[in-house]
Amino acid sequence: MRIIETVVEMQAFSREARKNGKTIALVPTMGYLHEGHASLMVEGKKRADILVASIFVNPTQFGPTEDFDAYPRDLERDRNVAVAAGVDVIFAPKASDMYPRGFQTFVAVEELTRHLCGASRPGHFRGVTTVVAKLLNIVMPHVALFGKKDFQQLAVIRRMAGDMNMDVEIVGMPIVREADGLAMSSRNAYLGPEERKSALCLSRALATARALFRDGECRVATLREKVLRIIGEVPGATIDYADFRDSETLEAIETANGQTLIALAVTIGTTRLIDNCILGEEN
Ligand code: AMP
Repeated sequence: MRIIETVVEMQAFSREARKNGKTIALVPTMGYLHEGHASLMVEGKKRADILVASIFVNPTQFGPTEDFDAYPRDLERDRNVAVAAGVDVIFAPKASDMYPRGFQTFVAVEELTRHLCGASRPGHFRGVTTVVAKLLNIVMPHVALFGKKDFQQLAVIRRMAGDMNMDVEIVGMPIVREADGLAMSSRNAYLGPEERKSALCLSRALATARALFRDGECRVATLREKVLRIIGEVPGATIDYADFRDSETLEAIETANGQTLIALAVTIGTTRLIDNCILGEEN
């Protein structure tokens, strides 16, 4: 496995690979890799000749009071996970190479970013779409894979790629969970032992709402009340949002169906966690 640290070298690598008729898959990450990331990589490897994983803690998607400095970083550990998952190239650029002096161009998706995480984290998606657009231009993949754990992010990136006629297939992959249901996340590393237990309220609330829906309950007000109660009972859990939305448009709805998205953002202590499910799906 090769580690490439500059934009110029990465572009040269991809240009050469494409010239030789090779297909490229890209998995963009912020590192501190876990099995969720690995599942994207394993699928990427199946879909292309060359698998590139980027590791870049992107400063432009963090707000001024967010955890950019504290975000866990461990390239040595990431290297092992990446090798095991079949990565051919890790692209790990420096922020000064991605955003050199004078940088002033941003990509922004409008309506889809107005609610959910877009409302609680102003500027977050503008940073995400800008860095993903740059990564797509640099790595020039045929296919790029993203997790449904960040459901809104996936929707926003699909929209950007479509609206901007980007010549890349965007693939969404299922959420990978710990055995007890907690969605895997690099930020889980922040949780102390008691918080780790409290964090289960997200997946528990989603599972309960799904079970009620399966038993015939379609009223969002009733389902939402149950979700709020389960999370509200947990000490140290603060709800940022618990929203029921159409999974295509992300518009709020009042009557649930199999395609309804439940999206949660909950702070446990000081750690903000997100999770989601589609009511009619297994995951
Ligand atoms: P991150 O490093 O957190 O920015 O995530 C990089 C990619 O991995 C994004 O597309 C995430 O949606 C995806 N991802 C993170 N956690 C999971 C998970 N538990 N299951 C599936 N995909 C995930």
